Amino acid sequence: MSQILVVGSLAYDSIETPSGKSPKTLGGSANYFSLAASLLSKVRVVGVVGEDYADEDYQLLEKRNVDLSGLEKVKGKTFHWEGFYEGSLNEAKTLKTDLNVFEHFNPKLPEAFKDSQFVFLANIAPELQLQVLSQVKNPKFVGMDTMNFWISSKKSILMDVLKKVNVILINEGESQMLTGAANAISAAIAISKLGPEAVVVKRGEYGFILYHREHGFFALPAMTMPEVIDPTGAGDTFAGGFFGTLAGMDRRPSFEDMKKACVVGTLLASFTIQDFGVKSLAKVNMSALKSRRDEYKKTVSFEKDFVEI
Ligand code: AMP
Repeated sequence: MSQILVVGSLAYDSIETPSGKSPKTLGGSANYFSLAASLLSKVRVVGVVGEDYADEDYQLLEKRNVDLSGLEKVKGKTFHWEGFYEGSLNEAKTLKTDLNVFEHFNPKLPEAFKDSQFVFLANIAPELQLQVLSQVKNPKFVGMDTMNFWISSKKSILMDVLKKVNVILINEGESQMLTGAANAISAAIAISKLGPEAVVVKRGEYGFILYHREHGFFALPAMTMPEVIDPTGAGDTFAGGFFGTLAGMDRRPSFEDMKKACVVGTLLASFTIQDFGVKSLAKVNMSALKSRRDEYKKTVSFEKDFVEI
């Protein structure tokens, strides 16, 4: 089993969805990613929190054996994101982003993290993504995420990060914003020309599209969930399931491996949306994941002869 190094935000989020409000809830891309990936592989976190970060929030990751030796606690406040969702809940609207301790963060990898084989640059300022990646000696497989906030404010650094990764996982709207493409399919093709050999476009309830430059497309809907309480973190959870699966296989990922990894990402994301913040994801175990896989299989597969043509 390989080690995954992740850099991303550890946050307190203030979220409003049609189901209600959840102020100062534990969130952040690195938290969702690590909770998901640590079910399947070993995770090392690089990030920063403020003095207000609660002990019980550290313990959540410690309980999953996540290595927190790259997590700094400094003077000031933890990153805070405030957002809301309307209608179909497929797109978060940002009201406020307080970078706080991330503003002056200068990540320095612990010596023991530098040999990490799998690296995930979760949603965080692109210069921090680059700074972390440059300290890893010889990674086997590198992935990234990003969001509209960075596409509009730091596009040229983001382009540098894109050149250095094997895969990007990105929301549909953001894939179009990044490329100017009119739909997710053409956006995926356009992004693969900017660097990554594989592109995963995340499409909320419509699922995902995986595009590989040599092997083409693989796409599935999301798990059919009648009630979505809070979609925050679904994308980061997907990425955690995706990377956790690949690192668990311990080889240079093939297209087939990535297809399986996308399915696991889909299954784990379906837990995250069932409650605010990380509440539901934190309770998932392997047996819950397996039964969800069995349920999902029923909705997405059929035998060839089922349709007589
Ligand atoms: P998603 O999986 O896309 O729903 O990610 C939601 C998480 O992203 C939230 O928990 C936020 O704390 C975090 N987030 C929001 N804006 C930013 C940002 N500009 N940089 C890093 N993380 C962010």
